[in-house]
Amino acid sequence: MDAITRKTMLYKTGVEYGDYTLNHVLGCSHGCLYPCYAFLMAKRFGKAANYEEWCKPKLVSNTLEILDREIPRLKAKIESVQLCFTTDPFMYGYDEVGTMSMAAIQKLNAAGIRCTVLTKGLLPIELAKQSDKNEYGITLISLNEDYRKRIEPGAAPYAERIAALKALSDRGCKTWVSVEPYPTPNLIQQDLNAVLEAVSFANRIIFGRTNYSKEISAYTKHKAFYNKQAGIVIRFCNERGIAYHIKNGTMT
Ligand code: SF4
Repeated sequence: MDAITRKTMLYKTGVEYGDYTLNHVLGCSHGCLYPCYAFLMAKRFGKAANYEEWCKPKLVSNTLEILDREIPRLKAKIESVQLCFTTDPFMYGYDEVGTMSMAAIQKLNAAGIRCTVLTKGLLPIELAKQSDKNEYGITLISLNEDYRKRIEPGAAPYAERIAALKALSDRGCKTWVSVEPYPTPNLIQQDLNAVLEAVSFANRIIFGRTNYSKEISAYTKHKAFYNKQAGIVIRFCNERGIAYHIKNGTMT
């Protein structure tokens, strides 16, 4: 795996449910075709020339050294750190990325900083030994592997992803699921209840629509569709005592 170095690492996000974030890899082998917003931004700002380059991730080799400098300076301001916003912390098939993520989480936890993790790879069971304030999550927008291969070609198979999250949940960890970007029926016909049922052990579910896609714009009934699906999520979570958040712009 190629490596690069950087000067800074922790930064504050502007998103609705995030505080600070850490992105210690440039690019992502999962190659999601929703499309991936991080890829669009990397292309726009000249960090990745094209999709093929984006899918060859480069590890930021001095991540831990930067954290040693930044944590003492920022820790009073940080409520939590999310790994990651513009890459994947447990990239499928890239052990170096997972090893670096684990070391970063240990450093942050040692400073009393809680971490929130989100992946389309496999969460390692060793996470159960880290701070019990951490939250571990996966993205899950379908259970159909053919769709996964089409839209998240380099990511972990859904069943493996869910099993890794469940193993952490069984060990008492806080878990969450990002059901986003949820596809409209012109992309795939499926039952949202089945997706939710597969992760009904999770403590929190985030639901959000697909943005920036030609297919969604072409689907004229998307507003009514997303209102109905958000209603399904709310009912499902209320019935089971699961916390939920419907992303801005999903219900209209
Ligand atoms: S896992 Fe996230 S960062 Fe990686 S390609 Fe998919 S959407 Fe982009």
